[in-house]
Amino acid sequence: MPSPPDNCLFCRLAAEGDHVHAADGFVAIRDINPIAETHILVLPVRHVDTFREIDAFPDEEAGRMLRFVADTASAAGLDDYKVLVNVGEGGGQTVFHLHWHVLGGRFDAGKLAHALELEPR
Ligand code: AMP
Ligand code: ZN
Repeated sequence: MPSPPDNCLFCRLAAEGDHVHAADGFVAIRDINPIAETHILVLPVRHVDTFREIDAFPDEEAGRMLRFVADTASAAGLDDYKVLVNVGEGGGQTVFHLHWHVLGGRFDAGKLAHALELEPR
């Protein structure tokens, strides 16, 4: 398995950040620039660059990761929400340590449009 870049921001936050939820090799942190009332990032503690490398997770671990995403939303009091993964530079990914955005409550429309690279009509 390739070793993680030693300057990875999310490796550092996974190891020593302020976690809103943590279990089983996964952590949840608050996004520093929220685009919704609740904007949480879920990340595996171990470094995987992108969702493209999903095969780095055995089925059992991939299943636990999905469950952790749902548990994080539930622990944040969300019933209805969005889950978003940006994959690769062209997909809007800016931090190359796999993470899931959990977005709930009121959205900042401008920031959401920007995050989704939508052109105004
Ligand atoms: P993405 O564009 O999908 O790679 O998402 C990266 C996310 O990380 C963005 O929503 C950023 O606001 C967020 N982010 C960047 N630096 C930090 C940080 N130090 N703590 C928490 N979130 C961060
Ligand atoms: Zn990392």
